[in-house]
Amino acid sequence: MPQHVVTFTKDIIKKMEIYYEAFISTPNPPGAVFRAKTTNCVITAYNSGKVLFQGATPEIEFLKWNKNDKTALENSNNIKQTPRILELPNDFLLGNHSGSDEAGTGDYFGPITVAAAFVQGDQIELLKELGIQDSKNLTDNKIRKLSESIIQLEIPYSLLIMNNEKYNKLQASGWTQGKMKTMLHHHAYLKLYKKTKDIDSKGSLIDQFCIPSVYKKHLASEGETIPENTYFKTKAESHSISVATASIIARTSFLKEMDKLSELTGFTLPKGAAKKVDLTIASVIKKHGSPFLNEIAKVHFVNTKKANTYL
Ligand code: MN
Repeated sequence: MPQHVVTFTKDIIKKMEIYYEAFISTPNPPGAVFRAKTTNCVITAYNSGKVLFQGATPEIEFLKWNKNDKTALENSNNIKQTPRILELPNDFLLGNHSGSDEAGTGDYFGPITVAAAFVQGDQIELLKELGIQDSKNLTDNKIRKLSESIIQLEIPYSLLIMNNEKYNKLQASGWTQGKMKTMLHHHAYLKLYKKTKDIDSKGSLIDQFCIPSVYKKHLASEGETIPENTYFKTKAESHSISVATASIIARTSFLKEMDKLSELTGFTLPKGAAKKVDLTIASVIKKHGSPFLNEIAKVHFVNTKKANTYL
């Protein structure tokens, strides 16, 4: 079988990973950054910088990255500006589809919540009329009310809550927030699909929080693969009613969890990660001792250190 082995810079390999994003196959072989399979060949890029092109016509892919080839370099420079993403099919947003979104990732106190929801095309107008939209534009009270409507309408959804103890444990073991979000979105979909498997769907739309190849890499590291017809879009909650619905469910759950933690702590825990949070941390430590933070906060945030000023 014809093959080429070439050493590339990390920068080029990163560009290759974006370029071949739609063709990446999982799991990764040991020591590999990614493996992608095109109709021409299999491309395996290793941490060492070596890239193996192997298959029927490897030169077609290899030449795209050959340093001596001017068009190849131009290509690779363009890639940086326009990373390749899977285009949503034209009628996707108007048809039956699932969407997912998370809440709590930027908040020092409280868990991460992730919801996935399945909305059918003929329900979209009604949900819009009810006021379902990007939860960032809605007040907390409105969000809570809308989530009641979603439940009344029996819109299929799934919800996952990663509590702070679990979060801190995974974080300490080396998980990034990106990996946690990836696994939560993934499992939210698997849970949702069990409820919706008999209904036609155009696929799923994730409110994009990382590049798709990284999402796939996180999945692969846990032995999982991405379901078919999964798409990514930034600010998806303003385009897709399913993502907007999921964002409202995730946000409502986050608010409820914050209520519980506030009651447990004896203080109203502020959202976000601003100075008010630092002051509250100091009060919590004085009342309960610092180990208690592990149960109510994302302790690796810099706020934990900042709070020392107020002790
Ligand atoms: Mn989001």
